[in-house]
Amino acid sequence: MSERTIALVTGANKGIGYEIAAGLGALGWRVGVGARDDQRRETAVAKLRAGGVDAFGVPLDVTDDASVAAAARLLETEAGGLDVLVNNAGITGGEPQHPVGVDIETVRAAVEVNVIGVVRVVEAMLPLLRRSASPRIVNMSSGVGSLTRQSASVGEHQTGPLSVAYAPSKTMLNAVTIQYARALADTNILVNAACPGFTATDLNAFRGVRTPQQGAAIAIRLATLPDDGPTGGYFEDAGVIPW
Ligand code: NAP
Repeated sequence: MSERTIALVTGANKGIGYEIAAGLGALGWRVGVGARDDQRRETAVAKLRAGGVDAFGVPLDVTDDASVAAAARLLETEAGGLDVLVNNAGITGGEPQHPVGVDIETVRAAVEVNVIGVVRVVEAMLPLLRRSASPRIVNMSSGVGSLTRQSASVGEHQTGPLSVAYAPSKTMLNAVTIQYARALADTNILVNAACPGFTATDLNAFRGVRTPQQGAAIAIRLATLPDDGPTGGYFEDAGVIPW
């Protein structure tokens, strides 16, 4: 195991993921830039390196078994292991998301990336994380995944658009986070879910009100938790989010 902390951020070529990579790199960590497109990945790695980050590219499509397995091999053989995994890659699945009349493929796409993709990456990386002194898993969820907030949005207190793909996929990701935290409770691996807040990125056609740097802050906090930090939690900048 390397003496320096090694992180992998999925979907790190742009948006919040890029800023998480930059933030972890600023701590002196080695940062794997997980990205599926060669050109976008190389551009991001070059930009991070120009900013002083010890970044390296990790070809990674979270929907592809072979790609994820190859990423795990690369981390083990070329990077020296893995301490911190940030599952940031995510998609909305497309529009419209209204529950009535939704295209099933919209639901399937969101679940494939936002849920199954995370499980696939966690499973591939767990053997490496188990060898780390202070391993962390951060799952980039969203406040819209909160069942409390979803049910509060019915009727007069509507807080967000109806969504039968993206929001429920993040609800399932929250459950996946709890399940891994329980399964790994007797290890030193801390597993938590994060909400970045409504952030201006490609995901929402830059309608968000926070900067990607602001959106990255909570994931960086959870990636750098002390050994006695929480596990199985769901957090935004302001604190705990109700499930
Ligand atoms: P973004 O700018 O669209 O970035 C998404 C990233 O995920 C991109 O790097 C994208 O790569 C990558 N990705 C998508 N599918 C992938 C796959 N199959 N394999 C590997 N990478 C894949 O969106 P963002 O706003 O930064 O989103 C980052 C995370 O924050 C997501 O999980 C999102 O759900 C969550 N989030 C965002 C907001 C917000 O307001 N923006 C709010 C709550 C939660 P490509 O460039 O190749 O497409």
